[in-house]
Amino acid sequence: MLDNPPLNGLNYELRAGLVTGIDQANSDAAVDAIVIIGAGKAFSSGADIREFNTPKSAAEPSLRTVIRIVEASAKPVVAAIGGICMGGGLELALGCQFRVASPGAKIALPEVKLGLVPGAGGTQRLPRAIGVEAALNMIVSGAPVSSEQFKGTGLIDEIIEGSLAGELLEGALAFARKVIAERRPLTRLRDVNIDYPNADAFFQFARNSVGPLARNFPAPLKCIDAVAAAVARPFDEGLAFERELFTQLVQSPESRALRHAFFAERAAAKIVDVPEKTQPRPIASVAVIGAGTMGGGIAMNFLSAGLPVTILETKQEALDRGVATIRKNYEASVKRGKLTPQKLQQTIALLKPTLSYDDIKTADLVIEAVFEDMSVKQAVFEKLDAAAKPGAILATNTSTLDVNKIATFIRRPQDVVGMHFFSPANIMKLLEVVRGEKTASDVLVTVMQVAKKINKTAVVSGVCDGFIGNRMIEQYLRQAMFLLEEGASPQHVDRALERFGMAMGPFRMSDLAGNDVGWYIRKRRYIEKPQVVYSKIADRLCELGRFGQKTGLGWYRYEAGKRDAIPDPAVDAMIAAYRAELGTKFGTVPRKIADDEIVERCIFALVNEGARILDEGIAQRASDIDMVYLAGYGFPLYRGGPMLYADMLGLYNVVRSMARLASAARVDPAFWQPAPLLAKLAAEGKMFNG
Ligand code: NAD
Repeated sequence: MLDNPPLNGLNYELRAGLVTGIDQANSDAAVDAIVIIGAGKAFSSGADIREFNTPKSAAEPSLRTVIRIVEASAKPVVAAIGGICMGGGLELALGCQFRVASPGAKIALPEVKLGLVPGAGGTQRLPRAIGVEAALNMIVSGAPVSSEQFKGTGLIDEIIEGSLAGELLEGALAFARKVIAERRPLTRLRDVNIDYPNADAFFQFARNSVGPLARNFPAPLKCIDAVAAAVARPFDEGLAFERELFTQLVQSPESRALRHAFFAERAAAKIVDVPEKTQPRPIASVAVIGAGTMGGGIAMNFLSAGLPVTILETKQEALDRGVATIRKNYEASVKRGKLTPQKLQQTIALLKPTLSYDDIKTADLVIEAVFEDMSVKQAVFEKLDAAAKPGAILATNTSTLDVNKIATFIRRPQDVVGMHFFSPANIMKLLEVVRGEKTASDVLVTVMQVAKKINKTAVVSGVCDGFIGNRMIEQYLRQAMFLLEEGASPQHVDRALERFGMAMGPFRMSDLAGNDVGWYIRKRRYIEKPQVVYSKIADRLCELGRFGQKTGLGWYRYEAGKRDAIPDPAVDAMIAAYRAELGTKFGTVPRKIADDEIVERCIFALVNEGARILDEGIAQRASDIDMVYLAGYGFPLYRGGPMLYADMLGLYNVVRSMARLASAARVDPAFWQPAPLLAKLAAEGKMFNG
């Protein structure tokens, strides 16, 4: 019995126990056959992630050793597969001589998702069990396949009907007795011959199809190489080759980034000083205040998750407009075949539009998404204080306002929290959960759980101007604007950062978000902080009414109904005029700027502000900052986020580059003063993600 909750990860104890069990069974005359089954909900999910990067993960018996011993057993070993059988778990099952499974068990080799190839024989045994093409599909995609689909293949000898606990074991034991009674020969997958004519042509085709999709990820192509070796080489050579590929990939920056993102996502769900046992509040209904851009998208998240939503506006007209937009978005999904018409009706039926606070009295969670204006927020929160039931969570979607101040407007500040969604709120994965000074632990725990339910990646942020993501992006954009002053064009800056891997360069991104949003924020921010040096070039653009995609003109121009950003000579002229104006002041001569400089200045601006955010405790951990950038700002996954990117460059090198940028800076060399935490870690030879 594999017993290591929650999913029977194959840690050292389990591996050693397996070997002892197999040895004992083989030397005990009373035993005829061996059944391996998982306790609880899974056979095994593979390696135990808690053991990663610890000496025990490499300690013998390694999984490869265990599988070799299982495979060599003189008495038949039957894997009884229920629930989840993935990665190393499947490799172990493939080492057994027989396999039975419950229907609906999820079977996969997901290593490719971590930038790896399976490392314990999966690429060699799976093709021998289910054929080359099916195996290649599973290994390159990493996607789970349901056990009953393997009926009639060498992977599953028998499907054991029934879903009650105990039925799988009963069925597996009965199967083992049958094997003994019938004196069935032991089938070892390593001995199966693969006969696959035209293998070369097939693998070439596979490489051609996967190559362009996997541009920045080496693992999918290596998976193909490994499966090709299963066909072309004797079993043991193929196994050694698979190991070689695994060892290479484990050290690749892409795999490091993917593994980092995997752990970062799990770590982000944990709140350092909140006890794990904190009970969440029940959330059965939601109210959204404001049916504008954000309110509508936020409401859709909950409707799609099957929760009733009351949406409140001050005027009928705004309410109707908001509801119509929600309906239109769902109708677009129906047209794309992503939603059935019945499901649309059911989903829309969960929405209750209202103009009255009486209708939000029963809501368990209220999310405010009204205008970004403190006095409007105050009026709304005072009404909420009077109307909402005791214990209701009162969340604000503010992007820039002080959540602690908002909490002072009501008599229950412990129930106030920030839920900072990103636009379009029904699509973007990121949710910053803003923790106020007085926010109760159970409120935080509830919101993190709710985030999961609506399929968001939630990251906790402390209160500060811009929270984690936008506070960092301000510095990134500041450098992007200076680059324009100095000689770059918007399309040049965008291209350099897109080549680096950003989903969208800063100027295309600003056009999408609306240049007026930043303009409004800058006006407030830089009146409060007149010492901040920034380029006025974006303000000039806004003075021309070029707010971005929504006005058809921004840093680029946009043709009606299209999203293609077309460089605009009018913008070049505006930039040239601005440079000329500066020229008389600063002696600026436009210069040719290299892509590397663009990337360094923009990305190191993120890193330096990230270091401050970490130092101030606004972010709980460096990986949370990385998660914000991966889930919300289109930072390339294969670089793992800005903080991991800096770690991989080496913080010592980052600091040296910043010193170089400071000495070359035309304005504000102090910008490149390394944040104290960055300087300290660099001096100590440490990393952010230590
Ligand atoms: P919006 O102007 O599209 O929508 C605001 C809506 O609130 C309007 O429909 C308005 O009629 C309604 N409203 C105003 N006062 C109200 C009141 N007293 N009671 C009820 N409804 C009222 O604005 P938006 O872009 O949806 O932004 C809303 C909030 O979300 C702001 O706090 C903003 O900072 C934040 N936010 C915006 C974005 C973004 O990209 N747009 C991203 C994250 C957060």
